[in-house]
Amino acid sequence: MPTLAWLGLGLMGNPMSKHLINAGYTVRGYDIDADACDRASAIGVKVAKTIAEAVADADVVYSMLPSGTDVHDVMTGANGVFASARKGTMVIDCSTIGIDYAKKIHTAADAKGIVFVEAPVSGGTEGARDGTLTFMLGCDPKHSSKAKEMLQPLGEYIAYVGGPGTGQAAKVVNNLIMGVSVTVNCEATALGQRLGLDMKEFFEIAIRSSADNWSLRLWNPAPNVVPEAPSSRGYAAGFKTWLLAKDLHLAIEAGAEVGADLKTAETAYKLMTEHSESGGKDLDATSLVLHLNGEKKK
Ligand code: NAD
Repeated sequence: MPTLAWLGLGLMGNPMSKHLINAGYTVRGYDIDADACDRASAIGVKVAKTIAEAVADADVVYSMLPSGTDVHDVMTGANGVFASARKGTMVIDCSTIGIDYAKKIHTAADAKGIVFVEAPVSGGTEGARDGTLTFMLGCDPKHSSKAKEMLQPLGEYIAYVGGPGTGQAAKVVNNLIMGVSVTVNCEATALGQRLGLDMKEFFEIAIRSSADNWSLRLWNPAPNVVPEAPSSRGYAAGFKTWLLAKDLHLAIEAGAEVGADLKTAETAYKLMTEHSESGGKDLDATSLVLHLNGEKKK
């Protein structure tokens, strides 16, 4: 059985690495956060003290880190993955990092003889928990079948999109839709609450009406409408506000590169950023409703 390494054991990385352990692999993990390391250790990850220790004898390295700068540093740093892993190791990055970072990291990997695969995901912490994520692969086509095989325990739909940057392009477009949906779901919830609607009853109407959408069903912003939604547990993330703002910004940047004017994304990004900077950064993004209602953030 190949030995695996997992870097970034947060809300997504923790349950994703668990599926690999359940599939029988040994997983060595690394995270800069001590609590994340403790939680990972509790599910069977063999926690390492450094990136080098985690990846030294790994056949495949996975990463699930916040942003492009984090992934770039972890991969290309002096004691990072590319300096520490064996030549020929496959590195599958599942983070959402944008097209330019993905291309830059592919080039750096090629120079070191590392096989880099971008594999951003959709499906949220629920999909990570259930092993039902959708993956969007961008890499040299000759590596796509091994990457798919190594992601099988984590996903329901694993799509090969194309060469470097294309997986992140698909993810950026997906999250433009999702990010704007979450934002408008929060605006609609604030309006419904102010109009005195019973939001549980409204939910039953909306999911049978033209307002229905994926994030409204899973991540309903009104508390105690969907028992498993972050709003029903004090807006604990879920999908952190700052990460959603990051993804909307990636869409705006990608739009600027190709001359696509994304006015709706700009408004959603502005609202998410305001909320993030006024105390909502690490709360679930649906806590934007608190900001819109002028309520205190927990
Ligand atoms: P998170 O903040 O819960 O986890 C990120 C982890 O990375 C943290 O534990 C952090 O300590 C660790 N980390 C940061 N810098 C590090 C470094 N240099 N070395 C090692 N570990 C480091 O975030 P998350 O929700 O798990 O999101 C991770 C990625 O997945 C992001 O790119 C996000 O956009 C994407 N994503 C998240 C969701 C979601 O629903 N949460 C869904 C799809 C995609």
